[in-house]
Amino acid sequence: MQSSTIPWVVVGLDNGGNANNATVLDATGKFLVDRLFENPSRVLEGPEAAVEALATSFSSVLAHVGVAAESVRAVGLDTPGPASAEGVISSRGSTNFAHPGWRTFDFRGAVEARLGVPVVYNNDGNAAALYAHYQLFGLLAGQRSSISAIVGTGLGGGVIVQGNVVKGAAGMAGELGHVHIPMDGLLGPGQPTPHCNCGFDGDAESVASLTAIEKNLLPYWLSQFPNHELAQQSSMSKAAKLVRGYGERQDPLALRIFERQAIALGRLFTIAANFTDPDAYFVGGGVIEAEPSFREWFLNTVKAHTALREEQTRVARFEIVPDLDKAGARGAAIAALEHVRGAEIAARLTGQ
Ligand SMILES: [Zn+2]
Repeated sequence: MQSSTIPWVVVGLDNGGNANNATVLDATGKFLVDRLFENPSRVLEGPEAAVEALATSFSSVLAHVGVAAESVRAVGLDTPGPASAEGVISSRGSTNFAHPGWRTFDFRGAVEARLGVPVVYNNDGNAAALYAHYQLFGLLAGQRSSISAIVGTGLGGGVIVQGNVVKGAAGMAGELGHVHIPMDGLLGPGQPTPHCNCGFDGDAESVASLTAIEKNLLPYWLSQFPNHELAQQSSMSKAAKLVRGYGERQDPLALRIFERQAIALGRLFTIAANFTDPDAYFVGGGVIEAEPSFREWFLNTVKAHTALREEQTRVARFEIVPDLDKAGARGAAIAALEHVRGAEIAARLTGQ
């Protein structure tokens, strides 16, 4: 094969509500872009505009690093969910994909057809989880397992086993936010069981998400701290976004709220410990993009509430998801690189 002597790359494209972020990863596993490389994602205009916007991301990031499109072996694409394991957007649409054209749209297939190279799909939580995993374990990534919980508007993340994203039959594995966790001792006296947007009561996202602060935690804890400044805010949604800043300043109400979230993540990780017994437990999201001492307190609280067996405590690591703004594109690129390597090995085994 003459192409084996030519350096090749893969491209990672992270599709978000407002912007795409693109990166380039070479065959040796080195990222050629060290910053955010963004352009408008145009998802609100529907699939056609969004696919064109991704084609623009693709060509501009290649121009930026001075690599020809012919050198690209595969593209990794990640988007917010819900979508199938193969990148078909849910029939019910979602916040990001509200335009009717998105329903059951084969996003992965359309990007592949437009770019003319194989496209590997992951949801954004899985892509970020994959990046965190490779960043921590490096060459041992294929022999290690991890779980990542990323606290944002919802609770995302992913499960990695032996270096691979666990996607599930319908693409719904690793939906950590909707795993039920014990509520006993997590709720305050008289606090109703928190409700999640997915329809469940008492799942992890119903406590550990920004939505949970607005809908469940803040209303309850303000009733316990009725003179708190946050009660003066015009809406719960505005007040919810301010809670982290109060937490960093050691405000007692805010610390109670984040303590509840950390306990919820610890209980979720306790389930993971008995399910996949991972080498590493990652926490990411706004709560971690905070002032270092607050971040440390939060991660330690999660750890303190993760019930591990003695054998597990000797190996388990608690870490943060690094470079969260770049993690989606980078994880998507890693998935594309693994795809190319897997295809090469398969070709060798079958003698092609
Ligand atoms: Zn849920």
